[in-house]
Amino acid sequence: MTDIAFIGLGNMGGPMAANLVKAGHKVRGFDLSEQSRQAAEATGVSCPADLAAAVAGASVVITMLPKGEHVLSVWGDLKPMLEAGTLLIDCSTIDVDSARKAHEIAADAKCHSLDAPVSGGISGASQATLTFMAGGEQKAYDAANPILQAMGRRIVHCGGPGAGQAAKICNNMLLGISMIGACEAFALGEKLGLTHQALFDVISTSSGQCWSVNTYCPVPGPVATSPANRDYQPGFAAALMLKDLLLSQDAASSVSVQTPLGQAAADLYRQFEQSGNGMKDFSGIIEMLRKA
Ligand code: NAD
Repeated sequence: MTDIAFIGLGNMGGPMAANLVKAGHKVRGFDLSEQSRQAAEATGVSCPADLAAAVAGASVVITMLPKGEHVLSVWGDLKPMLEAGTLLIDCSTIDVDSARKAHEIAADAKCHSLDAPVSGGISGASQATLTFMAGGEQKAYDAANPILQAMGRRIVHCGGPGAGQAAKICNNMLLGISMIGACEAFALGEKLGLTHQALFDVISTSSGQCWSVNTYCPVPGPVATSPANRDYQPGFAAALMLKDLLLSQDAASSVSVQTPLGQAAADLYRQFEQSGNGMKDFSGIIEMLRKA
């Protein structure tokens, strides 16, 4: 049993913390939102009123927060509270530069650290089937591994500090591009008189197959679990996809790499979000592409 503090008990952090409790760890949590703290308490996470009380005595501190600025602010606040040797794990999806700055904060406090963003969404968080992409020293990875195992199914050590965020950003850029491609193919197939099922049966077993079609098909029918069957309720919200695509474009320009399809995907998701669809599932962009 490990004494763990979990900061950020939202849609992802709440069920992840609950899985740590189920695995037998002692978990104290903190979130600015009282509603999130109450929901976490119901799953066995004890939630004291402030950050200091949540981390007191913890040998592992996990953060699951919206953006880089939140992570740097919380890790900065934590710095004077931590004992040397504490392991800090950030599971949020943030920019690579902020992830590296967070590792520096941990090193200044003589703590170990890992960036470990996740793939798998809210259902993966609830079912403890997340994939973790980890960046940091081997020692930090080895210490974090058994903790991450309680929340996920696959843990990949991608390299040094920031490598987990780099892998996450590359993966999600490809996901955004492939979803737009899948939507274009189905929108075109409709106009050419193909049924969704016929086109799915071909693509899902041919050279165009990809996760966006086979597992998350953007039209209702062929894949019963895809958000297209429930009017594009997320799932993975378009606003979060836009956030990840913008992170990929910032990262690409910081290393002078051209990603024209990544840029086009970011532009299309920005347009989709600006027309009031940020909270729709990201596969719902097919509705905008059909109109275009
Ligand atoms: P969320 O908004 O539901 O949860 C974030 C929580 O952080 C909120 O409860 C908020 O109150 C809390 N918070 C913000 N600032 C805080 C602070 N200073 N101290 C304490 N708590 C604070 O977001 P989420 O969906 O859980 O996503 C969290 C991270 O995981 C994001 O970086 C997101 O991109 C990433 N992610 C989300 C999904 C998904 O499907 N939702 C999938 C993969 C990765």
